[in-house]
Amino acid sequence: MEPGLLRVGDLDVYVTVSDKRRTVGLTVERDATITAVVPLTLDEARLATVITAKGPWLHAKLRERAATGTPRPPREYVSGEGFPYLGRSYRLLVVDESPMPVRLVRGRLQLRRDSVDDAASALARWYRKAAEPWLRKRVAPWAQRMSVDVTELRVLPLGFRWGSCSPDGKVNIHWATMQLLPDLVDYVLVHELAHLRHRDHGSAFWQTVDRAMPGWESRRTRLKQAGPELWLPIR
Ligand SMILES: [Zn+2]
Repeated sequence: MEPGLLRVGDLDVYVTVSDKRRTVGLTVERDATITAVVPLTLDEARLATVITAKGPWLHAKLRERAATGTPRPPREYVSGEGFPYLGRSYRLLVVDESPMPVRLVRGRLQLRRDSVDDAASALARWYRKAAEPWLRKRVAPWAQRMSVDVTELRVLPLGFRWGSCSPDGKVNIHWATMQLLPDLVDYVLVHELAHLRHRDHGSAFWQTVDRAMPGWESRRTRLKQAGPELWLPIR
């Protein structure tokens, strides 16, 4: 068993190997990352079986972390609150009249007063709408560079995942990704495009990532740190 990131179903698990362990130790961290400490002799298929069997427990823990894990105060959707967009914070401005429930005008994120009660959904829709053209444009040069075909790019709520994809070239990206700095969005895109070639997180997968984006490791670290800071209302 090699240390690294292992994807099992919809779960990404960071694997470390210990010669002292005789059983698999699974932990859901405060920032909702999953770690597995495994015995040296364990193989990947066996670990995948253990993780699959523990799936319901892991998902319950993830939901718990989402609800209580990060000590962020709940959003109130009042003027002055900051919401990140491509790494910059934009202040909310509640306005009486606007052609749209949410729109970005002169550096302020305008929220129409009659949408305040439904603000979480209205804002999530705004991120989603902004994300689609931006991401489609952004993914094109990466797809070309990595020689993969993206047949469809959709922006969706994806729970705890940044992205997902299917072998026929369909790529899904979480709308919350639009809160990240553009170079971290690029990492999410490259990661998913690499999955079009390699389903798992084996060494061939990471080689593909590395060829497209040398120095990706620091982006992955920053992504892990940025995740818990983002605004992510529970659907
Ligand atoms: Zn992955």
